[in-house]
Amino acid sequence: MDEAVSTIGNGPLRTDVLVIGAGPVGLFAAFEAGVIGLSCHIVDALDEIGGQCIELYPEKPIFDIPALPVCTARELVERLMKQCQPFEPPIHLGQRVMRVEQRDEDKRWVVTTEQGLVFEAAAVLLSAGNGAFVPQRLVLDEAPALEGRHVHYAVRKRAMFEGQRVVVAGGGDSAVDWALALRDVAKRVTVVHRRETFRAAEASVGELKRAAQAGELDIVIGTIASLNAPGGTLQSVEIKQIGGATAIDADHVVALYGLVADLGPIADWGLDIRAGRVTVDTSNYESSRPGIFAVGDIALYPNKQKLILSGFHEASLALRKAYTYAYPDKKRMHVHSSYDTKLSERILGSVPATDDGTNT
Ligand SMILES: Cc1cc2nc3c(=O)[nH]c(=O)nc-3n(C[C@H](O)[C@H](O)[C@H](O)COP(=O)(O)OP(=O)(O)OC[C@H]3O[C@@H](n4cnc5c(N)ncnc54)[C@H](O)[C@@H]3O)c2cc1C
Repeated sequence: MDEAVSTIGNGPLRTDVLVIGAGPVGLFAAFEAGVIGLSCHIVDALDEIGGQCIELYPEKPIFDIPALPVCTARELVERLMKQCQPFEPPIHLGQRVMRVEQRDEDKRWVVTTEQGLVFEAAAVLLSAGNGAFVPQRLVLDEAPALEGRHVHYAVRKRAMFEGQRVVVAGGGDSAVDWALALRDVAKRVTVVHRRETFRAAEASVGELKRAAQAGELDIVIGTIASLNAPGGTLQSVEIKQIGGATAIDADHVVALYGLVADLGPIADWGLDIRAGRVTVDTSNYESSRPGIFAVGDIALYPNKQKLILSGFHEASLALRKAYTYAYPDKKRMHVHSSYDTKLSERILGSVPATDDGTNT
């Protein structure tokens, strides 16, 4: 295996395969890469592994994973993580891949994230689902210029809001949880939501309403219509309400409307993309650019099913072809996992026993 040779800050991270997307398919790909003998790094734009399973339906039961009659989406992700753990694939979260370029001299891929990480890989496995999940932003002309200083789509440091007047917009778990958490540090927290009912967990909504009644924060029903920021400094937020409007004095707006999937930069990588998905050759799930593979929901081919088990199969075949880019001079022999002594030693710490009790 070509181990990763660099660390952050020491130049590109070198690996056989770079997996873009830590959804269920990317996590399985990391296991399969290890089985095949490829080193691999995983990168994801989100702060958590699990892709759609964790972002969209963590508590829902899944019934169509082979040999797992039922498990929640969260449990599936935990199991996939456990399965790939023996190979210890480095996982880089909060890193959105922006650029993928091929070096002329050795045909290796140089992959750069928005946050500044650079990878160098023999092959790229794109398991990017519907694209990176990005926060749904305020649709107001004045918002982009205020982003980072007065307008936020996540709370990174609570201390930033100390003694400030904060408007938290949204009605889901993030909005309600952060409104409750910020009331302890902010001068005043106002929750702005477009309707009386909140989508967050019942207990959190109960606490929010109790806090409002106790005067610990305010709840305003309506939508943000404009931001009043003379000279680039936010002073107040205009709220449109049924039959009227109101203004709230504010230093910050934290808009937590949820995440939307955005193919974004992937569309500019010179791949053949149709209807927002990457076309592939079904013999190895390679895209129109040799060395870049697309598996899972992002892959497009006749009769493609957007199912987790389809992605597992696609990743397995793609990585076998990826091996030929990483080790063009080596011939890889297939060994069933049940006979693979190296794999057994790595996973169980011992070689497998034969049916008659002796070791293979
Ligand atoms: C409500 C619901 C229920 C479902 N139930 C089932 C079911 O019962 N059985 C089943 O088989 N399937 C089910 N599915 C479908 C299943 O979840 C998907 O097929 C599966 O998640 C696809 O996995 P993936 O790894 O290809 O992509 P995803 O899970 O979408 O993960 C892709 C990851 O790539 C990251 N990414 C994208 N672009 C970039 C970039 N540029 N840089 C860095 N990271 C990036 C994203 O942030 C994301 O984390 C369900 C889907 C939904 C919405």
